[in-house]
Amino acid sequence: MTAARGIRFGADTLAGLRRAGRARLAAAGIDSAALDADLLLAHAMGLTRERLLVTDPATAVPAAARARYEALIAERAGRVPLAHLVGSREFFGRSFLVTPDVLVPRPETETLVEAVLRRLDDRPLRLLDLGTGSGAILLTLLAERPGWEGIGIDRSPAAAAVARRNARRLGVASRARLIAGDWDAPLHPALTFDLVVSNPPYVPRGEIAGLMPEVRCHEPVLALDGGPDGLDGLRAVVAAAGRRLRPGGWLAAEIGADQGARAAALVLEAGLREVLVEADLAGRARVVVGRRPDPGRALMNS
Ligand code: GLN
Repeated sequence: MTAARGIRFGADTLAGLRRAGRARLAAAGIDSAALDADLLLAHAMGLTRERLLVTDPATAVPAAARARYEALIAERAGRVPLAHLVGSREFFGRSFLVTPDVLVPRPETETLVEAVLRRLDDRPLRLLDLGTGSGAILLTLLAERPGWEGIGIDRSPAAAAVARRNARRLGVASRARLIAGDWDAPLHPALTFDLVVSNPPYVPRGEIAGLMPEVRCHEPVLALDGGPDGLDGLRAVVAAAGRRLRPGGWLAAEIGADQGARAAALVLEAGLREVLVEADLAGRARVVVGRRPDPGRALMNS
């Protein structure tokens, strides 16, 4: 990738640099070449994309910004994820810091957030996010529900540190604890929750080599590798939910598109009910939801 850094676009206007960057990224096989080039040019110039789009295309770009842009384009052409180059990604309308230590938040995961928000209002609640990564799920839920508090755990201490920075950035740090550890192992055995959420690693190990280079070469394999059948992460999450959910508490976990039936079976076997698989905007199975029965309430209602 460093070898590609020497490219020179031979243009120094905004319009010329945009055109050259788009062409370079398109030639590298990047579908979102135009958008990515604009975002990188805006980043190199210290502007928002909106601001860039209303700037005169004939504007001369200063040499330092042009050099930054050319280096960024070369890295993106080498399939470094855009979020790593600009250091952040939007998720559910908020900006999250992203480093190579965390999975880049994905739009599909907003399906999980919506599945939770649809079921639960702002009454005080304690939630647990297993494999929190950037904190996208936990911190979005805390931002959307000011009455909630939660704990996020990640096996990677570096990921937990990124999530902690995001908690401060989003102004929810006083209601979030972010710790490093193996699933729910760091927690006191008696600690229970009203909601357990997770985007566990769910890619079958044998399929990792076939993922896009951005994912395969640059994202943490710990956040992707779901074991031989892709369901090892979900099994750990379901087991933790079995230990940690209060009666009436909910589980919501992200799954792979072809894992709906097997995921629902795992959740049912753990004794949860109201089990449902929900689809993302592309119509693919994406989230499994379940609820721990509440015998006390069933009695009162009968
Ligand atoms: N959706 C991710 C991908 O394939 C997988 C994320 C995960 O394993 N949790 O890029």
